[in-house]
Amino acid sequence: MAKHKTDYVRYHIHTETANEIKRWPTRFRVKVKKAGLAKWLLKEVLEHGLGNRREVVLSRPCLYGVFSGPVGGFAPRPQHCVGCLRCTTEYPEMVSVTHNPERKKLGDSFFASSFIDALSYESLEGVIPVKGAGYRGKFGGEGWEGMWTDMSEIVRPTRDGIHGREFISTVVDIGYRPNYLQFDEEGHLVGAEPKLISIPLPVLFDVPPKNDQSEKAARIIAKAAAELETLAVLPITMICRIGLVGKHIVPLVKAGEEELLSNLGYIPDLVEMESWDAHLAESILRWYPESILSLRLTFPVREEILDYVQKGISTFHLLADYHGQDVEGNFVLDLIRETHKTLVEAGIRQEVTLVGSGGIITAEHIPKAILCGLDAAAVDTPVMAALQADFIGECKQREFSQFSLPAKLTIEWGVQRLMNLAAAWRDQLLEISGAMGLREIRRMRGEMGRAMFMKELEADAFAGVAGYE
Ligand code: SF4
Repeated sequence: MAKHKTDYVRYHIHTETANEIKRWPTRFRVKVKKAGLAKWLLKEVLEHGLGNRREVVLSRPCLYGVFSGPVGGFAPRPQHCVGCLRCTTEYPEMVSVTHNPERKKLGDSFFASSFIDALSYESLEGVIPVKGAGYRGKFGGEGWEGMWTDMSEIVRPTRDGIHGREFISTVVDIGYRPNYLQFDEEGHLVGAEPKLISIPLPVLFDVPPKNDQSEKAARIIAKAAAELETLAVLPITMICRIGLVGKHIVPLVKAGEEELLSNLGYIPDLVEMESWDAHLAESILRWYPESILSLRLTFPVREEILDYVQKGISTFHLLADYHGQDVEGNFVLDLIRETHKTLVEAGIRQEVTLVGSGGIITAEHIPKAILCGLDAAAVDTPVMAALQADFIGECKQREFSQFSLPAKLTIEWGVQRLMNLAAAWRDQLLEISGAMGLREIRRMRGEMGRAMFMKELEADAFAGVAGYE
C-alpha cells in the first residue's frame, strides 16, 4: 500500500526544567526541635541499626529532601518543602511547618503570592501544579472567583486532551471573518473575503512593562513567541532600535511614528495601533496591506467599538489595568461580557476578533475569559512573574507600574521559562476543554452554557430567604 506523505506536525511545546535564578523566600518555614530529633534518631539507630540504610534513616520522615542535607534534620532545607504535612502529622512534638510571611510579600494585592507560587512552579517545570492535599480555599469570591465552569461532560472519558487519546485543538483565529461567503454563478467568491491568521494557542505576549531590563525582556518575549508560534506585541521604537525581525513580532505604533513603518525589516502578521488615528491607519495599510490591523482600546468600550468596526477595524486589543479593572472599577470579566454582547446584538460578533489584557494571571483565567467572549488573551504581568521580577509596590496602572527583573536574567533561561509556562497553561486548557466536552477552543468563545456565576446561583437558591439580599 502506498504511503502518503503529510506535512502535518502535531503542535508540541518543548519543556525543560528552568531553575530559579534568584532565591525567593521559601513557601514554608520548617522548625525541628534538635534535642527531640537527636533522641529519636538514637532510638531509630538502636532499634534498627544504620547499616546501608544510613541515608534513609537520616532523611526521614520527609520524602522531598528537607531532611536530606549533610546534617539531616539538624539543618532542614525548607526550599524543598511542599507542605504535605507528613512530618508534623507523624511527629507533632518535634516538627512544625508554617507559612513563611516573607513569601507573602511577593507580588501585590491582586497578583497574590499564591498565584506567584503556582506560576513559578509552572514556569520552572512546564507541568500542572498538583495540590495533593486538595483545594482548601473558598469556592467563590470576587472577580474570577465568582465564575465557575460547568464540567458535566467529564463523564466522557475519551475527550482526554492532555493524554492525546482524542485531539483537542487550541488553535484560534485573529482577523476578519465575514458572517457568510458569497459566490457568483460560476462559483467564484465575490464580496468580503476572510483575512485571518491562526495561532496554535490563545495566548499572546503583550508589551512588557517598563523596567530596568526592558530590552532583554523584549528579546525574550520575541523569541518565546517565535518558539511557540504565537505573537509578541512590542513598541515599534524598540523593534527598530534593537533590530528585532520576524512576522510574529507585532509592532505597536502610535500617531507620529508613521515614518518608522518603513524601517521594519519584515512584514508583520499583525500591526497594532495604540489609539485610533485615521492617518496612522491609512499609513499602516499602505505599507503592509497584507497585515491585519488591530486597535488597542481601553475598557470600558461599550458602543464605541461599533464605530471602529464601521471604520474597517476587525481586531481589537482590549485593555484593563493590571488588576483587571477599568477606570470605573468594573472587573474585566464583566467588561469582556459586555463588549461581546454588544457585538452579538449588532450581529457582527463573527466578524470581529477580541484579544484582551489585564487581570488575566492564571491558567484558569484564560478559559474563563474566552467563555466570557475573548478570542485570545495577551498576557502581561504573568511574564514578569515567570521571569522572577519583583513587583515594586502595587502594580495596577500600566503607565506607573514598576518591576525589577533579576540581574542574572539571560535570554535562554527567560525563553524556557515562558515556554514552560505556556505548556502548563495549554495542558490546563486541554483539561478544562475535555471536561466541558469541547473539541476546540474556537467553540469555547462566548459559550455561556458552560459558565456559572456565583451571584446568579445564589440569587436562584436563596431569593426570599430572610437575611439574603
Ligand atoms: S511538610 Fe512534607 S515536605 Fe515539608 S518538611 Fe514536612 S514532610 Fe517534608
